[in-house]
Formats: sequence, C-alpha cells, structure tokens
Amino acid sequence: MRRVHLGLVTVMAALTLAAATNALGQVITSGPPACPTIALTFDLCPVRKGAGYDKALIDYLIDHHIPATFFMSGRWIAKHDPEVEQLLGIAFFEVGTHGEVHAHLPMHNAEEQRGEILGPVKLLSEHYAHDTVLFRPPFGEYNEVTVDVVKALGLRLVRWNIESGDPDPSLSAEHILLRIEKRAKAGSIVVLHANGKGKHTRQVVERLTADILPRKGLKPTTVSDLLSCKPVNR
Ligand SMILES: [Zn+2]
Repeated sequence: MRRVHLGLVTVMAALTLAAATNALGQVITSGPPACPTIALTFDLCPVRKGAGYDKALIDYLIDHHIPATFFMSGRWIAKHDPEVEQLLGIAFFEVGTHGEVHAHLPMHNAEEQRGEILGPVKLLSEHYAHDTVLFRPPFGEYNEVTVDVVKALGLRLVRWNIESGDPDPSLSAEHILLRIEKRAKAGSIVVLHANGKGKHTRQVVERLTADILPRKGLKPTTVSDLLSCKPVNR
C-alpha cells in the first residue's frame, strides 16, 4: 500500500512539473529554426531624460527596409505621439506593448499586473486604432500570474534568447556585436533598445544587418513572421 501511495506522489509530482513546463512553454523566447530568419526587437521603455527616441537608428532601419519589432510602454507612447504614428505607418515594422509604467510585474498581484499589461494595449487600440497581441514584460520579468493574465487577455508573452546588453554604458559596440554574433542562429530573438538608452545601438544594428547577419545567412524579420516562419520578402 505504501509503495502505491509513493507511486501516486511521484505521478502527482510529474504532473505538476508538466503543468509548470506548459506554463513556461507559453513564454516565447525564439522561433522555429526552420527559416533562416532572426528578429531584431527594440524596447521603448519610458525615459526620464532625453528624447527617448533613437532617430538615427529608426531612420537607418527605414532607409534600409529592415523589418523590426518595437515594444512600446504606455508612458513612452504618451510622450511620443508623432513617433508612434510614424512607427505604426511602416509596413515592415511590427508593434507590441511593454507595460504601462515599466513595473516589476512579479511584485504585483493579478489585478495590478492586468492593469500594467493592458494600459498600452488599450491606448494603441483606442487612440491609434491599432490592435496589438505581442507583449514584452518590463525587465523581462514575469511569474505564473503574468503568464495566466497574458493568456486571459489573448496576448502573447515575448522574451528573447539573445540579450544584447545595449543599455549598459560599459559595453563597447564590439563587445555587443561579439555577443550577438556568437549566439545568433535561425529563429533567434534579439533584445535591443530604441529609446536612446543604447549608446551604440545604431552602430551595432548597422554592422549586424550589413555584415554579420548576411554572413551567417540570417535575414531580419518581425517576431510574428519569425514565429509563423514566413519567407522574408525584401
Ligand atoms: Zn523595458
């Protein structure tokens, strides 16, 4: 009898583990490796000082028709109306959201997390008639509550599998490039910043798209196209 009981406990433990794996499985960190594509993603976290917008970087992406995905926070949207309009108007750009005030989600209960996540989703829908599905948690932080809330809202939680480290002022462009080059492969999602916090971001993106990614046979694409593994039209 005791042996049977222990067996049940083991089965229960295994089921709990399976559930945890499923919950974590809803967090996207990369796409399928079937297409030779890579997603360059740019967070637009709120900034206290400065323009909060890396115009040189965005202009480079537009001029060179480089697909990219932007995750906008509510506070950033509120201060950057013309920039929001511009980014939404570029056919090869995709826009997702990045929380209302850039909160540490795991420190909040379900209702608070829901408010933080939903803020910019509603703002983009109501003021810009733009529906978004992709959500990147501020600081990349989430817990099981976040996963449940995101799912209930019909959104998709997107992290990354390559952290560029671009807001770190101690990292040189060379260092960031080396980091990305070492890890980049088909289906990778790279996190960068377009809010001016990355001192070398434009230079990094230029070197990546003009040299490193073509050498590796990888084409930039949006997160949605990466996930659906669509061929890239450029
Ligand atoms: Zn952020």
